[in-house]
Amino acid sequence: MGLLSEGSPLSWEETKKLSPHVRKHGIEQFINLYHRLKDRKGDVLKWGDEIEYILVKFDEQKKKAQVSLRAQEILNILNQKEQNDPEGVKSLWRPEYGAYMIEGTPGKPYGGSLAHFNVVEANMRYRRQEVSALLHPDESVISFTNFPRLGCDKFTYPEYDTTPDDESSAARSLYFPDEAIYPGHPRFKTLTRNIRMRRGEKVAIKLQVFKDKNTKIPVDGSPLGEPSTVLLDAMGFGMGCCCLQLTFQACCIEEARTLYDQLTPLCPIMLAFTAASPAYRGYLTESDCRWNVISASVDCRTSGERGETALKGGERRIYKSRYDSIDSYLSSEGEKYNDVSLIYDETLYNRLREGNIDHLLAQHIAHLFIRDSVSLFSEKVNQNDEEDTDHFENIQSTNWQTMRFKPPPINSSIGWRVEFRPCELQLTDFENAAIVCFVVLLTRVILSYKLNFLIPISKVDENMQKAQKRDACRAEKFWFRKNVDNSSNVKSEQNTFEYAKQSETEEEYEEMTIDEIINGKPKTFPGLVPLIHSYLQSMDVDADTHCTIQQYLRLIQKRASGELLTTATWIRKEILNHSDYKGDSVVTELINYDLLKKAKDIQEGRIVVPELLGFGNNSKTKDDIPSAIEKYLSVNGCCN
Ligand code: GLU
Ligand code: MG
Repeated sequence: MGLLSEGSPLSWEETKKLSPHVRKHGIEQFINLYHRLKDRKGDVLKWGDEIEYILVKFDEQKKKAQVSLRAQEILNILNQKEQNDPEGVKSLWRPEYGAYMIEGTPGKPYGGSLAHFNVVEANMRYRRQEVSALLHPDESVISFTNFPRLGCDKFTYPEYDTTPDDESSAARSLYFPDEAIYPGHPRFKTLTRNIRMRRGEKVAIKLQVFKDKNTKIPVDGSPLGEPSTVLLDAMGFGMGCCCLQLTFQACCIEEARTLYDQLTPLCPIMLAFTAASPAYRGYLTESDCRWNVISASVDCRTSGERGETALKGGERRIYKSRYDSIDSYLSSEGEKYNDVSLIYDETLYNRLREGNIDHLLAQHIAHLFIRDSVSLFSEKVNQNDEEDTDHFENIQSTNWQTMRFKPPPINSSIGWRVEFRPCELQLTDFENAAIVCFVVLLTRVILSYKLNFLIPISKVDENMQKAQKRDACRAEKFWFRKNVDNSSNVKSEQNTFEYAKQSETEEEYEEMTIDEIINGKPKTFPGLVPLIHSYLQSMDVDADTHCTIQQYLRLIQKRASGELLTTATWIRKEILNHSDYKGDSVVTELINYDLLKKAKDIQEGRIVVPELLGFGNNSKTKDDIPSAIEKYLSVNGCCN
């Protein structure tokens, strides 16, 4: 989530009072930063992945799995290693919201060469092993988007009671004890408290329960009048979820704006494609993804701002939470697709325009800056706007959107970057690496062929909601652009399709399945993977790299076609088919235990689930393959 400041957090009252100050100076800082760095050019493609993990403790006697609150202890050791050898470490580790979470990235970013795809998975595996080596024998580090019994009685180890009536509690949750919030940095509890205080009440995350034949209605803890709702009441239910993110460095600010825009329509597609979180607080729900859960978990808007009661003095209607999909494109090509009403601060917008920031960027920044600061540290209140960027980062880093547009840090060798933030986590490094390589290749194809994926923002928003529905990857259709190659830049033997002829009045987009988007539609739409294939044909790719990329693309294609399951669908199946499942939507201790045990065995290669991985044409070198996978391959064949 990013740590900015050390020191002592101010109270909500003080923070609130200083919010206009943070905004005013944050804007000045952005203007200065922009002019200092706008002409920066010639940076090369660099990129990296970020994976958030949960620590799980298994009780073999009681057949129980709990989240282990030892992240801080583990991080201290990992960070010590980094301090001792900042250049040499192969991975970097940072805290995340949960006291049971850690976030790992490669030690150095990857570069433009396609050969880097050969090490992505190995680095992910290395990270897992590095953490595993520090764990107790009964603990595991697992890439799992949401711990299914998060918020159930005694879901942490050590166990804690919740203290909803204690005024000094940050979350005051009925289910999520403050001890499950990362204790090593004040940011996390401060955000929790201030978001709740700003909103004027606890956050309310509502999920529809998956109704089975014996599901008990009303669901335990459901709000009045909404008997089938699973209600979650704390930031931890959202920010305690894990994801896979990608960051790209562009060659210059224009390219960053293009990437930001072009990747935007892919966010809901990749969310549906990577869906991995169907269970919350011990219930199976109608949702397959974490997105709306996190969105509601940090929704600091007052009831007036949300449109539920009359606006009070100084308030304005705000349509989305701080964590949500983006509201406007940044490139000139994107401008005409900015069709949702953009709320921004006029004064700040005018100041940005006076400061020579163009309209699209100014409205983007002024839109982010409708938010109050929800975490301010006393040491950081007074800053030098020429040199510092903390106030800008304060607001920027608490706008958690599908995409993030990131200016270079002052005095660094880092260029303009964009972050791609929608993806959920897969169980295996193989799948996570496949998703990473797929998205990175898409950026290459977009830039080389000048592809255009833009559709109206309102359609992207609609797609975001569809993406989270149960089984969306197979069952839903998504708005997608019909002709992505306006000037026929893609040239290859495979490129024999013709885009549907379009009349002037016809829409530029239509509804497609994920299969059609990724694998193509005969004659009318090429498909993202075939586009990548065309691109690769024009490149000089060595045999190793070719093999690596092909196995990843095969996985992507098979999942898109429905031949392979999403992680969410697999988790559902595991729960529904478990002998302890009583047809009541409840994920019992035993189901949870078995599910996480299996997840651990799958990620470590002791079990292979063909319906998830589709092995049979996996091409990995032998010593990379854990024994069960190897056995599977010897029966089913390797590279074919
Ligand atoms: N864990 C959050 C998510 O699943 C992301 C937090 C971050 O910005 O790093 O989206
Ligand atoms: Mg993170």
